[in-house]
Amino acid sequence: MLELPEVDVAIAGGGPVGCALALALSGSSVSVARIANEVGAADRPIALSHGSRLILERLGAWYSIRTSPIETIHVSQRGFGRTVMRCAEHGLPALGYVTAYSELVAQLAAQTHAVAETLKDWETAPEEVALRLSRGEEEVRMRARLLVLADGGPIRRAEHVTDYDQRAIVAEVEAERPRRGVAWERFTAEGPLALLPYGDRYALVWSVRPPAAENLLGLSDPEFLARLREAFGGRMGDFRSTGPRSAFPLSLRRSAIDPAPRTLAVGNAAQTLHPVAGQGLNLGLRDAWELAQMLLDVAKEEIGAPRFLERYVRRRLLEFPSVPRGCAWRGIGRARRLAAGTAFSRPPHDFRNARAALK
Ligand SMILES: Cc1cc2nc3c(=O)[nH]c(=O)nc-3n(C[C@H](O)[C@H](O)[C@H](O)COP(=O)(O)OP(=O)(O)OC[C@H]3O[C@@H](n4cnc5c(N)ncnc54)[C@H](O)[C@@H]3O)c2cc1C
Repeated sequence: MLELPEVDVAIAGGGPVGCALALALSGSSVSVARIANEVGAADRPIALSHGSRLILERLGAWYSIRTSPIETIHVSQRGFGRTVMRCAEHGLPALGYVTAYSELVAQLAAQTHAVAETLKDWETAPEEVALRLSRGEEEVRMRARLLVLADGGPIRRAEHVTDYDQRAIVAEVEAERPRRGVAWERFTAEGPLALLPYGDRYALVWSVRPPAAENLLGLSDPEFLARLREAFGGRMGDFRSTGPRSAFPLSLRRSAIDPAPRTLAVGNAAQTLHPVAGQGLNLGLRDAWELAQMLLDVAKEEIGAPRFLERYVRRRLLEFPSVPRGCAWRGIGRARRLAAGTAFSRPPHDFRNARAALK
């Protein structure tokens, strides 16, 4: 068994949030160990807000990733109305950007290296946390002042879970008449359907009930494209082709409220949102950025101490307060605030338009 040198901060998780935190601390007096499997991340498109761009610029990671700008967001509901947001109205170069998750992770991870692959478990003491890790077949031990869980959620059980009873069908599709720089959000009876500009294609995120998801996954490509046309309407003509389809279960999870001794959760390990407005990673990057600023600002003895943990949680709760019930139009209101770069934090409880007035 190998014992690694003690560090100030151990970060468990090789996703974008853990990597961003490690990068924000690299080269500083705060010693960091990242625990992550360096196997390439799954390839899927992901939308970033303007605020995330600013964080990634400060981390020196922005200009090396390929992005498709979102200049206009068109939000609609069949038979009810629409709202359109344009970047110029908000004085921004773009309302958001679509990039590949795998490319973003590779870029963020390239500049810090992982000391081990997996966090197995840990024990906390008043002054430190003792970690048990694995590196291949080898068991590795390490101590840290603070353990940051950035594992996406599987390690610690969430304290508040709401199952949306929906799956997100994700695919890249090609439209007959693509509209450059336009992202579409359409509220359907089943759930919201987003089409995000992604190179010369569109990244589709279509949230539907589990049986409908099964059905959509089982269709042939032409049948699937026809169903998509029916749900989305004819604004971009027909859909011509689709890449592989996959489905993600959707839930609201939150575990950041009570910090455990010497431990904090960030990104999806702290909160998992509905992807309706593409906010999970944006919140996670802000977690990483705020935590890094706090770590750079305190004396070493303060890192991981109860006062430090409470201060971090208080700061982040301002952005992610209580969870209200919601409906499509609340979603639209939030989409507007998101586009304007103002606080977007409270995910609607239910995105299906169950109310007769909204059907
Ligand atoms: C369909 C869908 C669409 C989405 N679209 C958007 C979008 O457009 N915009 C947006 O902002 N967000 C979006 N999200 C949310 C976004 O993907 C997440 O918020 C983001 O990936 C969270 O990053 P993370 O680093 O916290 O966790 P993850 O990306 O889940 O990464 C966690 C990492 O930790 C690793 N890990 C797990 N256990 C351990 C362990 N024991 N030891 C070490 N490592 C471990 C995992 O293998 C993984 O690599 C979407 C989500 C879904 C499901």
